Amino acid sequence: MSQPNSSLPQPFNPPSRLLMGPGPSDVHPRVLAAMARPTVGHLDPSFVGLMDELKLLLRQVLRTDNALTIPVSGPGSVGMEACFVNLVEPGDKVIICENGVFGGRMKSVTERIGGQVVSVQQEWGRAVDPAAVEAALDANPDAKVLAFAHAETSTGALSDAQALCALAQARGVLTIVDAVTSVGGVPLEVDAWGIDALYSGSQKCLSCPPGLSPVTMSERAVAAIQARKAPVSSWFLDMGQVLSYWSGEGKRAYHHTAPVNALYGLHEALLIVLEEGLEATWARHRAAHEQLVSGLGEMGLDLLVPEAERIPELNAVKIPEGADDAAIRGALLNTHGIEIGAGLGPMAGKVWRIGLMGQSARADKVARVLAALKTELS
Ligand code: PLP
Repeated sequence: MSQPNSSLPQPFNPPSRLLMGPGPSDVHPRVLAAMARPTVGHLDPSFVGLMDELKLLLRQVLRTDNALTIPVSGPGSVGMEACFVNLVEPGDKVIICENGVFGGRMKSVTERIGGQVVSVQQEWGRAVDPAAVEAALDANPDAKVLAFAHAETSTGALSDAQALCALAQARGVLTIVDAVTSVGGVPLEVDAWGIDALYSGSQKCLSCPPGLSPVTMSERAVAAIQARKAPVSSWFLDMGQVLSYWSGEGKRAYHHTAPVNALYGLHEALLIVLEEGLEATWARHRAAHEQLVSGLGEMGLDLLVPEAERIPELNAVKIPEGADDAAIRGALLNTHGIEIGAGLGPMAGKVWRIGLMGQSARADKVARVLAALKTELS
């Protein structure tokens, strides 16, 4: 008879946490329950029906009629790679706005594909300056793509995606928009703003576990992919191939084994957002932000980003003089069970990042993080 193996670890039981960092955010129990339902085959007719619904739900949340609107299997960075690897060919010129970590990641992805990067540098903690983008577009009439992060999670700066896309569209330049942190948290209109390619993440304002990246592409973007001279260098992310699995209502060809239970979770999360209503969801994020800023102000704490350029759901708080960054984050986690984020890159040690994303954007949770911070700072 086989003996239990005493050297094996115990099943993992995560500690109880309130997730108030840059993502993942608190996941709604309905989403966790959906993910715990029995796995079916990824070509099962019932699952194919769920995939069709997912595309419709995503189109509603992204405010688009784009046929190519799917959750790519992988985190936000995979959605990023999917957009760049399909739309950028070796030698293509790409204007990339860099006002934080994720602009830098776009640049790195583009360079690996062999794209030619024109960088529009912006002070960290500020929104992308439309005038600087206009100048770059005018100086580079041969640019194929303009790319920027709508919500730059590393600093908390929200850029005017509508204005930036209008500048690109007027010049026939395609846009790639990083909306990992903005989808579900702030107004975003893919079709009305003329966005060509957009990627997001499941773990932020959609309040799903990490691992899926909603992606949408306009007809112009699809035409650009079809007109490519060179094949897409990634097999997995080649949209032509991915679509053989995702497109054609009711019929599917095998591409990869979809993360079935994760997709149950996304389906439920999108239902929750749409049941609340997009406008109401955006308003809830804004109200949570105002509550946080007011409470921080009472403690003498200030935000990095000027008021008009802030992402409500990601607040970069300046660490006060004399406060021990890591010790306070550690105490929040270990004593209060609250996760907040550290500063990234040049912002390390300078800011804390307090996320109010999805299910974490609620008055009682904001009050908890404010109270815990007050205790630890006094
Ligand atoms: N872009 C932005 C703006 C992000 O905030 C993130 C993650 O925090 C990413 C891209 C990358 O997403 P992921 O970590 O899911 O790969």
